[in-house]
Amino acid sequence: MESAEIRRRWLRFFEERGHTVVPSASLIADDPTLLLVPAGMVPFKPYFLGEVKPPFATATSVQKCVRTPDIEEVGKTTRHGTFFQMCGNFSFGDYFKEGAIKYAWELLTSSQADGGFGLDPEKLWITVYLDDDEAERIWREVVGVPAERIQRLGKKENYWSMGVPGPCGPCSEINYDRGPSFGVEGGPAVNDERYVEIWNLVFMQYERGAGTGKEDFEILGDLPSQNIDTGLGLERLAMILQDVRNMYETDTLRVVIDKATELTGVRYGAADGSDVSLRVVADHMRTATMLIGDGVTPGNEGRGYVLRRIMRRAIRNMRLLGAGGLVVGELLDVVIRTMGQQYPELLEDRRRIETVALAEEAAFVKTLKAGTNILDTAVTETKASGGAVLAGDKAFLLHDTWGFPIDLTLEMAAEQGLSVDEDGFRRLMKEQRERAKADAQAKKHGHADLSAYRAVADTAGATEFTGYSATEGESS
Ligand code: ATP
Ligand code: MG
Ligand code: MG
Ligand code: MG
Repeated sequence: MESAEIRRRWLRFFEERGHTVVPSASLIADDPTLLLVPAGMVPFKPYFLGEVKPPFATATSVQKCVRTPDIEEVGKTTRHGTFFQMCGNFSFGDYFKEGAIKYAWELLTSSQADGGFGLDPEKLWITVYLDDDEAERIWREVVGVPAERIQRLGKKENYWSMGVPGPCGPCSEINYDRGPSFGVEGGPAVNDERYVEIWNLVFMQYERGAGTGKEDFEILGDLPSQNIDTGLGLERLAMILQDVRNMYETDTLRVVIDKATELTGVRYGAADGSDVSLRVVADHMRTATMLIGDGVTPGNEGRGYVLRRIMRRAIRNMRLLGAGGLVVGELLDVVIRTMGQQYPELLEDRRRIETVALAEEAAFVKTLKAGTNILDTAVTETKASGGAVLAGDKAFLLHDTWGFPIDLTLEMAAEQGLSVDEDGFRRLMKEQRERAKADAQAKKHGHADLSAYRAVADTAGATEFTGYSATEGESS
């Protein structure tokens, strides 16, 4: 089943059951606590928080999402992309646990002839939160899932919260057993690649109180209404329905891999290392295209930096695969043609997207050679003096003058057997920002205050991609 058909079936199923179909919002969140939209519920946040009265009791959407913290997983796990589409159904005080569980089961397991996805019920494993007896009972008694395929997990996996104070609640996830070729048995609690998580049902029913982090907080009491927020990864379901081993091999991404093969001559499947690079290229080129499509332009801050880093990683991986010349134009063309079927605005905006992307490639290619020379010299010097750590000021210089994202420097230094003084690098970055801030204040320029994002970037560390703020909850 093609991705486009999965999307159609999803929306039709919930529309037929009275849900209002809401188009995907832009990736640029209308929310000051977020850089980019990481989940389908974001556009509905004010309804859940009770700030705005929802114009409908139930809704469904297929939302464009970017999760930059997942960047390190891309190409390595079978199931994480920086861009993906989250299919969701939402209830604002309408149906609750039983309704959400019954809908999910019906849609996944009813036959494809009947409009469902036709998954084998015996391959579905359920997780519920530690003390959520009610959800467990519904899965067993109402739906008929045997007790041995239901597992209880703790807060990290099966509890969701957002903001302080804010809504929170347990969640229940549906996982698909892909069989012994993905490793040991034992359910999702044991092996999250074999038992791949496809759908998260969040039961938003309590008010969260103070406490730090994702796992350690108080629960104040019940919310005025009990809400449902669910998210299913379209690419993950596509991977199962198209019977491929990972999400990059599904219809909308495989074509990008094939184009990268055409440009580099490196066959997919030839070696583990080059396969990771091909998957990174496919993922990152798609994410970059979708970001530019929604109006992000490359830069050194916030969203612009997310985009820059993603594009530069894609280009660098193409070079690792052996590409010598310019590659972005042709890769972009495939992404726009494929994704343009679902997002026609990409086709209408093709010229602008190309202009932005090609300019970034030109800028990077120009500095890549000079930066590589600087890096090589610094590596040679460090080694000659018996050191194993590249100095923070070199990494800073490469970033500041040659536009090398820190992870590029880390990667290139590691290839030559060196680590990098990341603390030193971050200290210099911070000093530079403080200088810039002081300058800006002196000049009394009225720019938007991005200090919150910078603070996050500082505390999250240089290798962690800070696509959205750490203050934002994310269902797990
Ligand atoms: P995982 O544990 O596999 O990282 P998650 O628990 O972080 O997933 P949720 O926050 O529950 O994911 O998001 C809801 C659904 O969105 C997931 O069940 C999954 O199908 C999909 N999803 C989440 N992250 C990604 C990603 N990086 N790429 C593709 N799909 C994703
Ligand atoms: Mg989850
Ligand atoms: Mg999870
Ligand atoms: Mg995750």
